Amino acid sequence: MELIFATNNQHKAEEINKLLGGHWRIKSLADLNFHDEVPETGNTLEANALEKARYIYELWGKDCFADDTGLEVDLLNGAPGVFSARYAGPEKSSEKNIAKLLKELNGKNNRKARFRTVIALILNGREILFEGIVNGTILESEKGEKGFGYDPVFKPDEANVSFAQMPLSEKNLISHRGRAIKKLTEYLQMPK
Ligand code: IMP
Repeated sequence: MELIFATNNQHKAEEINKLLGGHWRIKSLADLNFHDEVPETGNTLEANALEKARYIYELWGKDCFADDTGLEVDLLNGAPGVFSARYAGPEKSSEKNIAKLLKELNGKNNRKARFRTVIALILNGREILFEGIVNGTILESEKGEKGFGYDPVFKPDEANVSFAQMPLSEKNLISHRGRAIKKLTEYLQMPK
């Protein structure tokens, strides 16, 4: 069975392909030779994931899914949330995003935060949402070189090091995205 992943991130598509195995074949937008931007205009992760999945479903008429992720910081009332990529400006610079976040939390004790991923699946015209969460804290300075985005300043509660200090295999086991993908793959592997 073929399932379109509404992403231009080939790495994410391959990762899910591996997790799903035989029965399902995941195609990214690049696999379909589609390189346009997919609109993301929502104010919540749910709205954005649904918007992306619906856009592709309407274009191709095939089963598909899309994901959206945000970092939600308690002291900032859930910001940067859906705006995580563009927190410090439209250039989507991780370095600037981290600098802005550390400045906002400078001297603050409540550094609780979570990464949240929402996946919207459209299967036989039906819409289903899956959520993955990892709770943690924002460190006072960057630690580690691995990963991407906010990884150097995010320490999950289940570990003593930041996401950027963990091998990817370890991060995937507890990460927001890993957990949302697990729910999606379990659902897809259920007998229908
Ligand atoms: P996306 O929805 O996967 O594109 O994620 C939106 C933004 O959230 C990214 O540009 C990153 O800034 C941040 N982000 C998402 N996932 C992670 C992660 O696993 N580690 C660190 N930052 C992340």
